[in-house]
Amino acid sequence: MQYRAWFECINSECQSTYPLNKIIYNCPNCGSLLEVKHDIEALKRRSADSWKTLFDKRYKSNQWPYGSGVWGKKEWVLPNIDNQNIVSLYEGGTNLFYAERLGKILGLRELWIKLCGNSHTGSFKDLGMTVLVSQVKQMISEGMPIKAVACASTGDTSASLAAYCAAAGIQAIVLLPKGKISVAQLIQPISNGALVLELDTDFDGCMKVVKEITKDETIYLANSMNSLRIEGQKTVGIEVVQQLDWVCPDVFIIPGGNLGNVSALGKGLIMMRQLGLINKKPRIVVTQAQKANPLYRAYLRGFDRLIPIKAKKTLASAIQIGNPVSYEKAVRVLKEFDGIVIDVTEQELADASALGDLTGLFNCPHTGVALAGLIKLVKAGKIDKAESIVVISTAHGLKFTDFKVKYHEGKFKFPAKYRNKPIELPPSIEAVKEVLFKAIKNRRDSNV
Ligand SMILES: *Cc1c(COP(=O)(O)O)cnc(C)c1O
Ligand SMILES: [Zn+2]
Repeated sequence: MQYRAWFECINSECQSTYPLNKIIYNCPNCGSLLEVKHDIEALKRRSADSWKTLFDKRYKSNQWPYGSGVWGKKEWVLPNIDNQNIVSLYEGGTNLFYAERLGKILGLRELWIKLCGNSHTGSFKDLGMTVLVSQVKQMISEGMPIKAVACASTGDTSASLAAYCAAAGIQAIVLLPKGKISVAQLIQPISNGALVLELDTDFDGCMKVVKEITKDETIYLANSMNSLRIEGQKTVGIEVVQQLDWVCPDVFIIPGGNLGNVSALGKGLIMMRQLGLINKKPRIVVTQAQKANPLYRAYLRGFDRLIPIKAKKTLASAIQIGNPVSYEKAVRVLKEFDGIVIDVTEQELADASALGDLTGLFNCPHTGVALAGLIKLVKAGKIDKAESIVVISTAHGLKFTDFKVKYHEGKFKFPAKYRNKPIELPPSIEAVKEVLFKAIKNRRDSNV
């Protein structure tokens, strides 16, 4: 094979390497996280322009599996996997929403929102899960005794794992914090036939259990400490740049929980720089909910070390994580990309999400966290209004209708700034006309 990839320990004093078909999640030598490394010299033999042409030719085509946003970049992701073992649900290729009105309201020159939630199971997790489940199928075909794939989840990982496993005919096991995920997120793995275990704990508690049960090699671990997922997720930044005709934006803003996604975003951008597809180093901003902000706290201390916290209940339930597994990878990325970390309150995230919706989005509370972070940084002058900005929207708002209903019913402890209250009326033309004309007269101007 022309191209090669392998697991490598991220600890610079260790750097042990292992084949991708070995069942390991941490370095057996030193315990650090692993990452997938590629033979960059081999990839460099193809010019940047030639990679761009190849990726553009495949993008959203019907040429299976290359029409997938992830597998269209197969050589950069998992070059050696057999196409017949690829489990793809046509992930990636999601809309890069030109947020013209929201940008204007915030006084920005150019604002884009990458709608990763417009995906098979409604979140960006599909980008990584296609890679992980494909590699599992490859290992099973090579005779490895894997009987099931398991994950702990704040809701979206389990939905994604269950769907990809169902498509591949592999048993999924999901461990969920009871009562802490949305109805839509819970019913997805149930419908897809996963073994659904609801534990009376939080995400960090589920993570502890799943780490123990996957010590048995017949149960494969699908959490993002498994660096295969990062390989798929890293295509998000590459795809954004591709959608901007290979012009890199100035700033990326991304919500962070376990911090796999920001690590992945950075990894993709680094690879593009190594292979000459971009020269620029965009800035990366991670936003967290104030109720679950261990990265923000570490940032304030100059990233001395991670001090795990007990995450408090937040509306941004998918990032209610106090002990992020990919902390070290994320810090590396933030140092490389002149990173900023900021946190936002429940009211800030809910209002920002609602404001986004008023300009045509239907976004999830985590996207609200990113938008609220953007608003704060612009106000503080830390983001220049003339910069081109891309916000990573991580899930579809339809997975979080309970959050939206409560907001517009005014059921939160804080006032809902952009509440839109339905008006109940008798079915009389007069009554409707009266209310209607008044409403049109008082319509909020475009500055909401
Ligand atoms: C998983 C998830 C996140 C957080 O991603 P990390 O990689 O854990 O930082 C954010 N938003 C949504 C909707 C998610 O599902
Ligand atoms: Zn090691």
